[in-house]
Amino acid sequence: AHLDRIRAVEGDVHAYLAVDAEGALEQAAEVDRRRAAGGVLSPLAGVPIAVKDNIATKGVTTTAASRILEGWVPPYDAHVVERLREAGMPILGKTNLDEFAMGSSTEHSAYGPTRNPWDLDRIPGGSGGGSSAAVAAYEAPLALGTDTGGSIRQPAAVTGTVGMKPTYGGVSRYGALAMGSSLDQIGPAARTVLDTALLHDVIGGHDTRDQTSINQSWPSFADAARAGQVDGALKGVRVGLPRQICEGEGFEPGVLENFSTTVDRLRDLGAEITWIDTETFGYAVAAYYLLMPAEVSSNLARYDSVRYGLRVTPEGTPNVERVMSATRAAGFGDEVKRRILLGTYALSSGYYDAYYGSAQKVRTLVQNDFADAFASVDVLATPTSPTVAWAFGERTEDPTAMYVADLTTIPANLAGVPAISLPSGLSDGLPVGIQFMAPAREDARLYTVSAALE
Ligand code: GLN
Repeated sequence: AHLDRIRAVEGDVHAYLAVDAEGALEQAAEVDRRRAAGGVLSPLAGVPIAVKDNIATKGVTTTAASRILEGWVPPYDAHVVERLREAGMPILGKTNLDEFAMGSSTEHSAYGPTRNPWDLDRIPGGSGGGSSAAVAAYEAPLALGTDTGGSIRQPAAVTGTVGMKPTYGGVSRYGALAMGSSLDQIGPAARTVLDTALLHDVIGGHDTRDQTSINQSWPSFADAARAGQVDGALKGVRVGLPRQICEGEGFEPGVLENFSTTVDRLRDLGAEITWIDTETFGYAVAAYYLLMPAEVSSNLARYDSVRYGLRVTPEGTPNVERVMSATRAAGFGDEVKRRILLGTYALSSGYYDAYYGSAQKVRTLVQNDFADAFASVDVLATPTSPTVAWAFGERTEDPTAMYVADLTTIPANLAGVPAISLPSGLSDGLPVGIQFMAPAREDARLYTVSAALE
């Protein structure tokens, strides 16, 4: 049914970079065989899924929407993909993104943008616009994304779906094509909070191949979501509204109106609402756009024309440096090059302390602000995105206009805390999302609170 749906709407939406119909049907048949043999199956066995194309899938192309990896077929599965296969979840295909997950609109994909199923003239968010659009357009019931600075949550918000960035270390990054390693996190996307939690249960947990993977057992997130579906689940839950985000500039009036209505609903359901001062959150975007490019410049050094993908041989005598330079010039798009340049500059001697060093200090201050906030509230709530989905082309000429779209989502990445976005209504007919953040390792709390509001 999902393959039929993909055939019907993919021409409009372009959520996928690759559809693996044969592979998906074969995996579905395998589930039937396991079931017939009396095997114990996961609750999601047979439920198909779409995977963001910066997550390695053995035997299926993985390009990160970049020319430099065009046609690259990984020889191994990411940890999360191994988990999907063990659970018997057929993989429908690989979804579109901004090149190497850099962007907020999917317009930076080397293979053309994804369109928002709510309005095909508008962006589906980014970088994981393909995953969220696939879920919103019923081209997949579930999807995987990666979130370095909002790339699961912001697309969820502007497509009217749910997206969760787990606690840093809660889901193994083994096999995720690294962008900013200290910020990157794989997470689930779906149309309901419970579906998101069920998928999180499949992909989460310890993995020795990711050195930042947390070695602990986690509660059932599906049970946490079900606990939220019980009447009175929000009674006495303390919800903080970070003043420096919620009263910040750049919010559309329709988004703020929807947020305040949603906060009223939380109050009606028994939550205690307070305003919280998070002085340093206003600096989070600036710090992120120094730290992330610094890590990008290092992580993307591996695309050197030798080890993976594209190789361009220039005219004249080809030496290593000239081949590498020609390959990277042809293989990377403008936004990726911009960030590599920013990153190498921020890390260069003479500027290191002023840029990278200062940004690291801001990161610590943001973490401290979270710790202070969570001393008096259980969760923080903000609009997920300052605006609804914008029209194509509106921000492509102005990188900073694109970057400020991340002002609400980035603090959680800097602090490594979990954050979820779920639909909170419409503004001018377009979806708006609310974001909840919780202390590190309290992912379950987010599922309970979100399910209660849903
Ligand atoms: N908009 C963010 C950026 O461009 C999204 C990054 C991400 O989460 N992958 O950096």
